[in-house]
Amino acid sequence: MGLIMKQAVFESAGNFVVKEVTRPEAVEGVAVIQVRYCSICGSDVHLYEWDWEPEDPKGKATLKAVSEAFGGIPAHFILGHQYCGEVVEIGPGMENCKVGDRVTARGAGGYGEFTVSDQVYVLPEEVTDEQAALIEPLSVTVDVIRRSQMVLGDVVVIQGAGTIGLFTLQSAKAAGARKVIITEVSDLRLEKAKEIGADEVIDARNEDVVQKIQELTGGYGPDIVYDCTGNPEANRKMMEMLPSHGKAVIMSTYLENLEIDFNTIMLKNLNVMGMLSGTPDTWEPRSDPFLIAIDLIKRGKVKIDPLISAIMPLEKINEAFAALERGEEMAVLIKP
Ligand SMILES: [Zn+2]
Repeated sequence: MGLIMKQAVFESAGNFVVKEVTRPEAVEGVAVIQVRYCSICGSDVHLYEWDWEPEDPKGKATLKAVSEAFGGIPAHFILGHQYCGEVVEIGPGMENCKVGDRVTARGAGGYGEFTVSDQVYVLPEEVTDEQAALIEPLSVTVDVIRRSQMVLGDVVVIQGAGTIGLFTLQSAKAAGARKVIITEVSDLRLEKAKEIGADEVIDARNEDVVQKIQELTGGYGPDIVYDCTGNPEANRKMMEMLPSHGKAVIMSTYLENLEIDFNTIMLKNLNVMGMLSGTPDTWEPRSDPFLIAIDLIKRGKVKIDPLISAIMPLEKINEAFAALERGEEMAVLIKP
């Protein structure tokens, strides 16, 4: 019998149960990390809401596709992948950190006292623990901006101002966007978008988004739209607002399968890109988005602190997820 720890175990749609489970061991090539903070990803909230035994074949197909994208791990085990902590033990062959290092890492299991990872990044002292719990989502947007080849002077639209939307905003600005326009449906998030530096914000509840964007872009439309909503209506607006040769970047899971409008794609010469980030086959080790994200925070190029709206203990994890579902929070950190 190994050591025991507390972990929030995902039991069924809308329900974590904090349980005592066996602490993971320092096997070959991994570090055991004592988690200090784990931030809640929007994708975790989607998974939390889902029906795990869907009758509907579309629901089954979506779960299968998500699972396959992560190498066959059942989708509901991929929770808690945005964390930081301290290395407490290292397995044989783990050479890029030592016991006592403050780190962030790739992998899941952050909603518990300890987890393991084979891809660990030692933190510089300028990056706080709270900030480090948001390195992974920032790295996703770094990767997305690089892969979508946004260039200096581009006019950018970002649909959705959750944590990922606002990191996309800051990454686009850091990369030289000329103007960034945000569309959103929550008052809190519209306010945050302004505070973080959006050039224009559009309340999609009571404005004609496509027409307003035409006005704000001198009739040209945006060079790139990043959709961080997972909303079918936002997807339709994206295809409508893009001008000839525009780029559509899809960064979230739609909870229903959409009809793909190939005629619009062809007639407008659109470039439609899907971006499941966090898959290391898309970058070279020298331009690992985690390293770029750490550097951006260290050098004050992105703001992290204003995005953290709550820090909650592990025992309150269901409340934290419920608040995010209601759109009442920005980034929420769980402290195991
Ligand atoms: Zn995530």
